[in-house]
Amino acid sequence: MWIYLNDRFVTEQEAVVSVFDHGFLYGDGVYETIRSYGSRIFMRDRHLARLRRSADAIGLTIPIPEHRWPALLHEAMTRNDVGHERTDAYLRITISRGPGDIGLDPALCPTPTVVIMIKPLHPPQAEQYRTGVSLIVAQTRRNLPSALSPQIKATNFLNNILAKREAIAAGVFDSILLNWESHLTECTVSNLFFVRAGRLCTPALDCGLLDGITRDMLLGLAREAQIPIDEGHFGVETLTQADECFLTNTTMEVMPVTMVDKHPIGDGTPGPLTQQLHRQFIATRARFLEP
Ligand code: PLP
Repeated sequence: MWIYLNDRFVTEQEAVVSVFDHGFLYGDGVYETIRSYGSRIFMRDRHLARLRRSADAIGLTIPIPEHRWPALLHEAMTRNDVGHERTDAYLRITISRGPGDIGLDPALCPTPTVVIMIKPLHPPQAEQYRTGVSLIVAQTRRNLPSALSPQIKATNFLNNILAKREAIAAGVFDSILLNWESHLTECTVSNLFFVRAGRLCTPALDCGLLDGITRDMLLGLAREAQIPIDEGHFGVETLTQADECFLTNTTMEVMPVTMVDKHPIGDGTPGPLTQQLHRQFIATRARFLEP
């Protein structure tokens, strides 16, 4: 694997970051996960804009000028022989505060560390889309936005990792995190939707969740299809009584959920609106691919 580290492509063995890097010492950094369909990157500019917003929120300057990113990401795909008609690419950009003496002051780190990693994209198994997946509601609560905004896609991911550990222990696909008011937020790496009496429901951003790029696209597709939308504050019981449920993120697209806390959702199979929206997603995603 060729990895872009700071200013050049290096081999996996050479891709080494200092133990003084504040990304390692304090989780002080931001990242994005992006994918390609063939050679074209999905919503590249939206992901790069979110990376910039995350960096701005922590006062980190991204040392790569905006105009260089498209060529850099394409070179990373070509060097790793992915991002072509045979293999879609999974791209991860990480920018950390960089190496500096121990201490919290970001000024200790004059040079951020930039890493771009690329690998073949392994989408979820077809069986999971056919049967739907099971979730639990985690004991771990989503970060309080006034303490650490979920809009910052930070390399400190412990909040989500603790909820993921609960899902693993329960033998399910993932966990739903509630907020400080016991309202639904999102899962550990995806946004949450459900359907009630023909209305598409999803937790509002002020519940404390990442403004997912796929979430936003799905809401756009639902508006085009004139499906009524409720973005709001919902308790767990609204979800367990829902007719359908699904998750969205860049790599999964639309993943049906058929069980929450051992309660079947609807009739326990992927719902018709879930499947309709996924078909619509597949039919229209070419609109959102960058050259
Ligand atoms: N929520 C969290 C916590 C995430 O980490 C992610 C994706 O990484 C998402 C939601 C979905 O975001 P997107 O649709 O932009 O991939």
